[in-house]
Amino acid sequence: MSERRSKGARRSDATSPVAAWKEKEYLNGKTVDAGVVILRTSGCSHFHRDGCSMCGYNVESSCDVKPEDVTKQFATGVQKLGQVDFLKVYTSGSFLDESEVGKEQRETILKHCEDGGTRLLFESRPEYVTDETLGSVVSIHDDIEIALGLESSNDNVLRYSINKGFTFKDYERAAATAHSHGADVRTYVLLKPPFLSESEAIADSITTMRAAAKMSETLSLNPVNVQKGTLVEKLWKGWAYRSPWLWSVLEVIKASEGLSGKIVCDPTGGGKERGAHNCGKCDDVIIDSLKSYSITQDASRLGWPECGCSEIWRSVLELEDYVMGSCDLQRFFRKQRA
Ligand SMILES: [Zn+2]
Repeated sequence: MSERRSKGARRSDATSPVAAWKEKEYLNGKTVDAGVVILRTSGCSHFHRDGCSMCGYNVESSCDVKPEDVTKQFATGVQKLGQVDFLKVYTSGSFLDESEVGKEQRETILKHCEDGGTRLLFESRPEYVTDETLGSVVSIHDDIEIALGLESSNDNVLRYSINKGFTFKDYERAAATAHSHGADVRTYVLLKPPFLSESEAIADSITTMRAAAKMSETLSLNPVNVQKGTLVEKLWKGWAYRSPWLWSVLEVIKASEGLSGKIVCDPTGGGKERGAHNCGKCDDVIIDSLKSYSITQDASRLGWPECGCSEIWRSVLELEDYVMGSCDLQRFFRKQRA
């Protein structure tokens, strides 16, 4: 699951990017201008097989997209962004999968970044991170950051909760390959895949952050948000899933202090019922503080507001483990009252 997909108006024609926007990023000790372009491609290869339990990004893909459309989408996107120091190019799958981004299109994007002296970040599943693909990338542009959606370092969670279609070992191999070509690694760590209680989810994310830190220049903590058409949405509609509390997000970040590398977290849909949320009163303070922390790496910016809902969160942590199950009681009772 990618970070930061909530911004910008969505477009639906094949020759315009899905979205493009500017944001801030912490790079080499300072806060710089970054740009995001989301390209519409034929979609994630894993989605075409069966897909991950929480990922609904395939609604942004289309089998009708032609290679030359991707070139036009990129040109439109970067024109809108103007000058940036850091460019993030997302597809709904893997930039290195040639059936999504053709060789020619990939070269155009890399040359654009080489000419502008721009760091390029793209996402890929581990199976496409090979000596061959990376060799061809860094021969054109070598200021590269590869985002790997590890989600969890626990193979059981990867298999049974997420259906990720790869193991921790596959991720380790891809990260080592990236480093051997001089590329940096950004690892996405998921918070609260389905079938885990809130406290199990916190523990799984903390373990994953520690395991991934050894192989990452950046750790990106991504709390699950309930996306349309996913297994997670089905569970959520049946009261059997609640996206994580923002207290849990803070807990994972706090436990990860001191790990090597940069830590970023900008919860997609944060503060809303489908995204990571608390009671509604303390959400904005925490979300703003997470954003500020992400672009400065200054831990003193993390907000810990005084709010009664932290007691409810603590009770949920205990209660769920006692009943060995997870459900969204808060939302259930709120709807009953409404
Ligand atoms: Zn609260």
